[in-house]
Amino acid sequence: MTIAVLGGAGYIGSHTVAQLVRAGEDVVVLDNLITGHRQAVDPKARFYQGDIRDYKFLSSVFSQEKIEGIIHFAAFSIVPESMKDPLKYFDNNTGGLITLLEAMHQFGINKIVFSSTAATYGEPKSIPIKETDPQVPTNPYGESKLAMEKIMHWSDVAYGIKFVALRYFNVAGAMPDGSIGEDHHPETHLIPIILQVAAGTRTGLQIFGDDYPTKDGTNVRDYVHVVDLADAHILALKYLREGHDSNAFNLGSATGFSNLEILNAARKVTGKEIPAKIGPRRAGDPSTLIAASDKAREILGWQPKYDDVEKVIETAWNWHESHPKGYGDRA
Ligand code: UDP
Repeated sequence: MTIAVLGGAGYIGSHTVAQLVRAGEDVVVLDNLITGHRQAVDPKARFYQGDIRDYKFLSSVFSQEKIEGIIHFAAFSIVPESMKDPLKYFDNNTGGLITLLEAMHQFGINKIVFSSTAATYGEPKSIPIKETDPQVPTNPYGESKLAMEKIMHWSDVAYGIKFVALRYFNVAGAMPDGSIGEDHHPETHLIPIILQVAAGTRTGLQIFGDDYPTKDGTNVRDYVHVVDLADAHILALKYLREGHDSNAFNLGSATGFSNLEILNAARKVTGKEIPAKIGPRRAGDPSTLIAASDKAREILGWQPKYDDVEKVIETAWNWHESHPKGYGDRA
């Protein structure tokens, strides 16, 4: 039986595909390559180019392959873009899921692990954030993912499709052997932007706001290494294979770093000056996001290996230094 990875050519998807292949799974990747990279897909995975909103595409792949379960990454994920163009997010993320679930129901596929996000919590009432805390998103990206969680719930009740929602906090790093890494166009995330400035492929780094109620006034985030995150998907799949009920888990390190602390850690790792200015706040940014991650550790047996943010940045720097143009497939 085969695992279908939707969005397997993207940043987190491609690392998960590599880890699945390494674990001996038979993998197919479905990706429309709007943001993904063909070269990022492990050569042992069979690749199908197409869009999850296209029912005919899904049913053609699901007829050719014997799919046991789905790992679903195919979504847009840029908070500021979602503020400007919410319908793009509701269409691809929420709408795409509906088409996918219809196809899963039709083909009797009853397991799905999917990317949710800390953005579903919005501005948290207490830190660290627990899975049972209120979910009140402050941006359309988080709202589109919260709607996906709710749709999953009712699809479980009605059709018996079991799901694990993995609520990611901030993901960073690259495959330690330098084979795959992060390559977004445009890049909007803090760590890759800092490292592009360090590598000299970008100028002008702004830290968005220094008047938040945090230790140094800049936003605090919880960073997880992309390979640790990928491994959590494999554990979630195992959990569903064991016949457990649908569930949601935070994936974070339970430690927070401010944007200035990340900048300083990157200066230390790269040995570069990395000039930065303080700019205005970015719309939709919660002040602090730190995960309580005991649930994933206890129930899934998740044991992140990268517990040091400098080690996370080191693997990302290794990728950025050796791939100054990323995969080189975009202008
Ligand atoms: N950030 C920043 N400058 C940038 C990009 C991001 O100061 O050029 C900040 C952003 O405001 C947030 C943190 O870095 O406080 C992490 O943002 P990112 O987009 O990496 O992830 P998010 O937390 O939005 O998922």
